[in-house]
Amino acid sequence: MKALVLEEKGKLSLRDFDIPATLGPRDVRIRTHTVGICGSDVHYYTHGKIGHFVVREPMVLGHEASGTVIEAGAEVTHLQPGDRVCMEPGIPDPTSRAAKLGIYNVDPAVTFWATPPVHGCLTPEVIHPAAFTYKLPDDVSFAEGAMVEPFAIGMQAALRARIQPGDIAVVTGAGPIGMMVALAALAGGCARVIVADLAQPKLDIIGAYDGIETVNIRNRSLAEAVAAATDGWGADVVFECSGAAPAILSMHQLARPGGAIVLVGMPVDPVPVDIVGLQAKELRVETVFRYANVYDRAIALIASGKVDLKPLISASIPFEDSIAGFDRAVEARETDVKLQIVMPE
Ligand code: ZN
Repeated sequence: MKALVLEEKGKLSLRDFDIPATLGPRDVRIRTHTVGICGSDVHYYTHGKIGHFVVREPMVLGHEASGTVIEAGAEVTHLQPGDRVCMEPGIPDPTSRAAKLGIYNVDPAVTFWATPPVHGCLTPEVIHPAAFTYKLPDDVSFAEGAMVEPFAIGMQAALRARIQPGDIAVVTGAGPIGMMVALAALAGGCARVIVADLAQPKLDIIGAYDGIETVNIRNRSLAEAVAAATDGWGADVVFECSGAAPAILSMHQLARPGGAIVLVGMPVDPVPVDIVGLQAKELRVETVFRYANVYDRAIALIASGKVDLKPLISASIPFEDSIAGFDRAVEARETDVKLQIVMPE
């Protein structure tokens, strides 16, 4: 079967590649339909590693996927051939202590698509545990189904924030994840979300949503904008989604006394944090690593129409043109939000 293979840093090929797998009694076989290109896929392509995850052998990319069930294992009861689904890419050891606690995203034994040495899903067929495969309602498209994975991170951040109705939030960083966080925060009850970045095209896209205000920090101080929006009190929640050292060092200045900081962005290197700045306002600091137990909620919000992710899909690229799609993802970072690869029928 053909797959998009990262042979080594900087080298992709679209070639025959068999991922050894057999259909277990609790698995489903899925014909892949749409796969989003994630920043992490692009980072493995350009850098060959993320932190201590290093690509040492050819690896199939892709983890943001939707498709159609074509075969179900003998013990699968909630899915059948023909069901349209999306897939949660991180699979824990179900007997682990983390899984038993419901925090399976931080199970040390978790395997996650397209995180070395685990292959991803940019291939026409995949086998996946039925328990991590979710049926899409009829009015949710395959394209939206493939957006559930990145939106799940926004959901995790919004849940961690413990938003109260009417909160005012700030999101630093308008990459795809910052946008997902902003939309999840609005759906979670925020009255307003202020999104800050340097890239105007991305701010224009997210700023088109009702309830979202944007600040281009090239021309305007974010601290001043937040003070103006909150009578000088500060934001109830600050979602740090840039991973940029200056944003991290000054995030406490944006929050109100007793507010919350949610760390979503991942800095490449360790960065300094102003501990006293956090203490002086008794800020609650939360961290986010992927997500757990949010797929059903994410799909329900998309199906309800309360969250519309379609404006964030910049282009659909045929599977045969995947390599060009990845090159576009490297080059058009400032203007594209989400590129998706669509498999042949
Ligand atoms: Zn992703």
